[in-house]
Amino acid sequence: MAEKDVDVVVVGAGFAGMYLLHELRKQGFSSRVLEAGDDVGGTWYWNRYPGARCDIATTDYQYTWDPELLDEWQWSEKHAAQPEILRYAQYVAKKHDLYSGIDFEVRVDKAAWDDSAKKWTIHTSTGETITCRHYVMATGCLSVPKDPDIPGTDRFKGNVYVTGRWPHEGVDFTGQRVAVIGTGSSAIQSMPHIASQAKQLVVFQRTPNFSMPAFNGPQPPGRVARLKADRVAYQNEARMSPTGVPMEMATVSALAVSREEAFAMLEKSWRKGELLQIGATFTDVGINRAANEVVCDFMRSKIHEVVKDPETAETLSPRGHAYGTKRPCMDTNYFEVFNMPHVRLVDIRKKPITSITETGIDFDGESIEFDSIVYATGFDAMTGAIVNVDITGKNGLTLKKKWENGPLTYLGLTTVGFPNFYMITGPGSPSVLSNMMVSIEQHVEWIRDALVDMRDKGFETIEPTAAAEEDWRVHCTDCADITLFQDTNSWYMGANVPGKPRVLLPYIGGVGRYRRICTEAMQRGFLGFELQGNGKQQLNPGPVRLMQPDVEMMLDVMATLELPPIEAMSPAEARGFMDASATMRAPGPDVGEIVDGTFPGADGDLEYRVYRPASAGPHPVVVYYHGGGWVLGSHTSDDPLCRDLCKRADVMIISVNYRHAPEARFPAAVDDAWAALQWVAKNASAFGGKPDQIAVAGWSAGGNLAAVVAQMARDNGGPKLKGQLLLTPVTDGSRQSASYIENGEGYVLTKNVMEWFWNHYASAEDRKSVKASPLLAPSLANLPPAMIVTGQFDPLRDEGNAYAHALADAGVPVKRLQARGHIHTSITMVDMLPSGQSVRAHMASGLREFFAGN
Ligand SMILES: Cc1cc2nc3c(=O)[nH]c(=O)nc-3n(C[C@H](O)[C@H](O)[C@H](O)COP(=O)(O)OP(=O)(O)OC[C@H]3O[C@@H](n4cnc5c(N)ncnc54)[C@H](O)[C@@H]3O)c2cc1C
Repeated sequence: MAEKDVDVVVVGAGFAGMYLLHELRKQGFSSRVLEAGDDVGGTWYWNRYPGARCDIATTDYQYTWDPELLDEWQWSEKHAAQPEILRYAQYVAKKHDLYSGIDFEVRVDKAAWDDSAKKWTIHTSTGETITCRHYVMATGCLSVPKDPDIPGTDRFKGNVYVTGRWPHEGVDFTGQRVAVIGTGSSAIQSMPHIASQAKQLVVFQRTPNFSMPAFNGPQPPGRVARLKADRVAYQNEARMSPTGVPMEMATVSALAVSREEAFAMLEKSWRKGELLQIGATFTDVGINRAANEVVCDFMRSKIHEVVKDPETAETLSPRGHAYGTKRPCMDTNYFEVFNMPHVRLVDIRKKPITSITETGIDFDGESIEFDSIVYATGFDAMTGAIVNVDITGKNGLTLKKKWENGPLTYLGLTTVGFPNFYMITGPGSPSVLSNMMVSIEQHVEWIRDALVDMRDKGFETIEPTAAAEEDWRVHCTDCADITLFQDTNSWYMGANVPGKPRVLLPYIGGVGRYRRICTEAMQRGFLGFELQGNGKQQLNPGPVRLMQPDVEMMLDVMATLELPPIEAMSPAEARGFMDASATMRAPGPDVGEIVDGTFPGADGDLEYRVYRPASAGPHPVVVYYHGGGWVLGSHTSDDPLCRDLCKRADVMIISVNYRHAPEARFPAAVDDAWAALQWVAKNASAFGGKPDQIAVAGWSAGGNLAAVVAQMARDNGGPKLKGQLLLTPVTDGSRQSASYIENGEGYVLTKNVMEWFWNHYASAEDRKSVKASPLLAPSLANLPPAMIVTGQFDPLRDEGNAYAHALADAGVPVKRLQARGHIHTSITMVDMLPSGQSVRAHMASGLREFFAGN
């Protein structure tokens, strides 16, 4: 007799539910696993259509938790087919006695949280009621086939098949007239098989998809050898990779090479026959439309090479969506099908289906009779199976209601208002954008560890905090915002299901990063969770500190380069290093005109560079001071940023040089900065600038100089400045705030580098001068309006914020922006880090506001 009250109920016996059952038993938890199908395997149980197979090489798509399996199970192909993967699932279930823990042909219909008992009550299709402390949805991301939204589907009297619910006995289409509706992955895999049997095949296509040949065959010897040589290292590489598959990562932009070179590189990736390799050929396929278009062009050229009729080839060629923003497919002879004389392609965007009839399909004035219709119309992905169950959490809140504007989760694992409720590969986790075997194992292990930890400490419930859930939503949005996904109507965005809210459902920040975040949340005492039980409470509101995804990617790349620390170099070496680094950066946007020249500094001539907008002048003028810790840099070292601000704000930027330490120590840089401002004020008109519209701006040490000269202008009779834009400025050399401790290491500008800068620039005594530490000024009143931008992960964050607050306290109009997830240097990395764009857009509008109305 099955237990009616258990520690854990798990819904679903696919790879997720199976592994979870194994781990729960190992840890001594009682459990019930409830599965709608009559066997294990989930996806590989239901999707029995001909040609169904794994797109990820099966070497990588297998369990890692039982190392013996690697020797016991030999995959017959690189991309194993559905029957073999199902046999694998059955083999594992038998080996580990999982069948005895699973109830088959049981559908969970309803689940409700009982807040007084601190338990879930689960109702099943068999009329059973089960109570449990913890409730896990291992229901799969692609387990609910989407109903075709075509009129008349119930009228057809012939055979109807749905790829995701294929008959177990198989289907023989020999001699039949067959319609296939849909051209997603399932259609692409099954079409060659159906075409080889059918007498006539008509394919109804709404959106063409990118697909590449799988080049299926034996398992890839290189991968297998690497796996066997060092299983742990290989699997760790997969776990920490962006997609869950060990892969060579790109180092070059698609726009940095000629088209011929780009195509040659893509051809190499293509030949590998690996799903994720094409997209990983260049660094910017996922984030830059022009770079992505290079890949699209290549993929389309391949379709035209295969499909003989140019019109059909064009109809099959995706246009209007970026590569990778719809699930790319792998095929074996898919496009070749359209060279067969009995196969016809109908573009239903041009010739819409008007109705399914009793005998066939009516479209665009034509009627065709069929014996069979195959619906390959996809899934209600990621949320479908979860909200299919009527789940009620605390205070009568249903999950359906909570998610009506899109799913809200913390880490894609849990959701506020639903204690002790977990989702495996839920929305907000990498899930369908990853090798799902890796993601499934990670989630199972996280849930297992959470349950064990709670039991050990005597807690009964766990629930994320609203703040953590909101932080996670924002982070997921930050990640999505830098990609091209949002512009495509895809099932990743929920766009294939009428009425479903449009949000990017999976987390796009990468498998490795995601794992680190989840691990950190648990290791730091369940950050973002509230735990309760036995009269105890543990609330650890966090925050999980989340970096902008592109910034983190850049730091990851830098870490692999093992760059020498700046503070171990001489100033000359550091300058050489910085110059060399500058040659690798993106150039920034074009502006109207650039003019170089010299001006009289405090102790001899110095260089300047003018950036003039393309619009007609005269323009407001911004005197700009470069960053580099008073030791490094020049009037051209922030060139991309100056171009960007000039273009965005439509102002003239005059970037001026100043003498550098240690050759010229404090106050030489201040004297030159001041001389530059005087000179610009005098000569603004000659440059085509407005002499009464001058502001100062600067980054880092340059922000320090801009703040200092703004004070000097106030105290020395002008010029009257319209504003000061300070980007991550140094404002106080006399103290070290919390941000020095939080962000002192690992974010490019380190505590040690900053100390190296200060030591070269100013003595301990000099640092106390207001010309070195503008925050120490006795009064900040009557200074020009300010915009101060700080980075969350910058050692200088707190002193920038302190200056903003002090200015505001002194009555100065201040706009403060703490750039979420940014480091000291990232906002200046124009055209390299998309997440900096919105920050620079704010900076530009700050500049415009300085000059507005004048
Ligand atoms: C055709 C196809 C090809 C794929 N190819 C790849 C690939 O190449 N690489 C990759 O990484 N991933 C692929 N996937 C994704 C695949 O879904 C996952 O890799 C993985 O198999 C999911 O396992 P799971 O256990 O999480 O979910 P599933 O395998 O979907 O299992 C969920 C189970 O939950 C059961 N269930 C759902 N709701 C209920 C309920 N209310 N009551 C009872 N039972 C319920 C379902 O019957 C199902 O058996 C593919 C998916 C499909 C559909």
